[in-house]
Amino acid sequence: MSASTQTHPNAKIAKVSQMRKITRRGFLQASSVLAGVASAGVAAAESHPPSWRGDTRVEQIATNCEMCFWRCGVMAEVADGKVLKLQGNPNHPLTKGQLCARGNAGTQLLYDPDRLKYPLIRRGKRGEGKFRRASWDEALDLFAARLKELKQKYGPESIGFLPHGVAPGFFGTLMKAYGTPNVAEPAFAQCRGPRDVGYQLTFGRPVNSPEPIDLEEAKCIVLIGSHIGENVFTSQVTNFIAGLQHGAKLIVVDPRFSTAASKADWWLPIKPGTDLALLLAWINVLISESLIDKDYLDQYAIGLKELTEHVKEFTPEWAEPITQIAAARIRETAHAMADAKPAVAVHPGRHVTWYGDDTQRARAMAILTALLGAYGRKGGMFLPSKLKPGRIPLPSFPESERGRADGGGTRFPLAAEESQGLSHTLVQATMTGSPYPIKGWIVYGQNILESIPQRQNTLKAIEQLEFMAVVDVLPVEQTNYADIVLPEATYLERYDPPAIVTTSKRPYVAIRQPAIEPMYESKPGWWIAKQMANRLGLAEYFPWKDPDDHLARLIAPLAVNLAELKSLGAVSFDGHPYIEDRKEEDGPLFPTQSGKIEVFSSVLSDLKFDPLPKFSTVEQPPPGYLRLIYGRAPMHSFARSENNSWLDDLMPENQVWINTPIAATFGVRDGQRITLENQDGAKSLPIAVRATEAIRKDCAYMVHGFGTLGQGLTKAYKKGASDTQLITRVAIDPITGATGMRVNFVRVLPANGERS
Ligand code: SF4
Repeated sequence: MSASTQTHPNAKIAKVSQMRKITRRGFLQASSVLAGVASAGVAAAESHPPSWRGDTRVEQIATNCEMCFWRCGVMAEVADGKVLKLQGNPNHPLTKGQLCARGNAGTQLLYDPDRLKYPLIRRGKRGEGKFRRASWDEALDLFAARLKELKQKYGPESIGFLPHGVAPGFFGTLMKAYGTPNVAEPAFAQCRGPRDVGYQLTFGRPVNSPEPIDLEEAKCIVLIGSHIGENVFTSQVTNFIAGLQHGAKLIVVDPRFSTAASKADWWLPIKPGTDLALLLAWINVLISESLIDKDYLDQYAIGLKELTEHVKEFTPEWAEPITQIAAARIRETAHAMADAKPAVAVHPGRHVTWYGDDTQRARAMAILTALLGAYGRKGGMFLPSKLKPGRIPLPSFPESERGRADGGGTRFPLAAEESQGLSHTLVQATMTGSPYPIKGWIVYGQNILESIPQRQNTLKAIEQLEFMAVVDVLPVEQTNYADIVLPEATYLERYDPPAIVTTSKRPYVAIRQPAIEPMYESKPGWWIAKQMANRLGLAEYFPWKDPDDHLARLIAPLAVNLAELKSLGAVSFDGHPYIEDRKEEDGPLFPTQSGKIEVFSSVLSDLKFDPLPKFSTVEQPPPGYLRLIYGRAPMHSFARSENNSWLDDLMPENQVWINTPIAATFGVRDGQRITLENQDGAKSLPIAVRATEAIRKDCAYMVHGFGTLGQGLTKAYKKGASDTQLITRVAIDPITGATGMRVNFVRVLPANGERS
């Protein structure tokens, strides 16, 4: 039986469809201001007729933001075909009129002079970055011809599709119709995958995005490596602040004194790589001191007996030397959670691919949530509601004879299903030609040289390609290696599939529609995919006429008026977020195999993995090296926003945080430019040191996304340093295949000069 004809093991667990210290009060006040416009009320539907600015007629076009992936509601103020300003859309049920700095700066993406403006065809050697201008017809004809040729020579599986975001969804349909199962985006293997699998194994559903964490109603908030406030999603920050304003206790586990840690009741500066030991000790305290929500667990959970036996030895005293957190502190924080139960929001995190034990750590977090009776309860995690959009009937997709090349569903049994895939193993398959040759890549809306670790492998894989196409808004680094570059319209110029969101207390539909016509010769993704389908004889997979037709078909069963949706931008529905609100039509409470919370996982047991999470030690930095950790800043979204002029003004480059006495041992001082070198000899671009007591002595920290080597990004080119360029090795999670990336160590070298 080929891999493609086996049932994907995920089917067993239900289908995945999807220091500077300031006072706490001061932070809350300041953050309220930063959070922007207050709620206008979820149901406060109002239309947005044209208005006047002086003599200029101004229209308000409702859409949603793509400066990150929270998709906040936006009102674009448009006059004479120009977007003058972006504001939050008060009708949006989740984000209620808020935009962050990045959202406000969306106009600077739209009007970025570095944008890709017309199709390009390579004329120099691959990687030389020499292109000639082409018409869309010429570029698409060539694109289609190369896809046909590769299919003929190597089979449809020889094409790898590497997308990110919402817009590539149309192209994803095209790739399925073409017949390749090799689709891989970083959202799973480099970000949320292990978390979603861990929670799905336990509760029967993934966490999803936006995360359904009831921060505003919580009496205790637990953040493990999540630095809310530096990592900004508007509604999440607002709800976090609301929870603190209501008096929620805050426990922050982080090797770094983050902004969130500075507001915490308990900051636990954990030794990196030992979070699972802390979680097991907390679980031990809750069980051994009878602090669990027994009634809830008796009614909804299985496996408590096995868990009780399993954690007996994992006392706080056992965890203290491992985590370097005092046993008394571990007990105290476990008691704080117990006192607040069930209103305990244990945030499952978002970027969770750290040490290769990530699914098991997520399982431990899910189990902790269950023991506190917090899943489906006010102040804990709330439940998604049902919202069933229309389906556009399509012909069946061809089955692949050879199955996936990335090992998903076979080597990594609980990897993402085909539509998300494992990017780094797809890279390896391309590099080695095993299990079969992959000779073409289509990269869409992501910078693979910064989003996928081990860029040395990505570059070697590119050498094996006979064809590479890049579809993007900006000339990100890998465009240099492409045969064809297609300029996509920005999110303010295009229609994308609507956001149909169930992980909000009020589920909703929100649209993305063009505020203005695409500039230059850029085209929206839906148009590119439809044009390619016509050329490849696959038009039957795109039976809708235009975006309005597509949208109307999707919202038909939801009884939403198309004109109203286009005017308001979002329409919400009643939700049933807590167990006591559930209705029959919401489906099972816990869609696991057993219909219960599976504290003991029979799925993992059947697959010969530990059915209950176990701690194992991770490699420590050698003498003279620090563990490289990384995170986010509120004014940037990965490598997506560094070329944005307003955001560049706010934060032009990153710094490397090093503990002050440790910096002194390296002979460097605060503000000095240095070079980092990792255990494999990979060197960073010059980066300024932030010598601070706000980080443990065994780590170095930087904000992700800087140090691009794409010369076409004139603002961002070679500014700051890239953590990805120092991540030359990874620890693979054996359950999901995701890449743990906090396993690289760096040392400080003298500066090798200023930025070149
Ligand atoms: S959080 Fe900011 S960048 Fe992200 S979608 Fe919302 S406004 Fe845009």
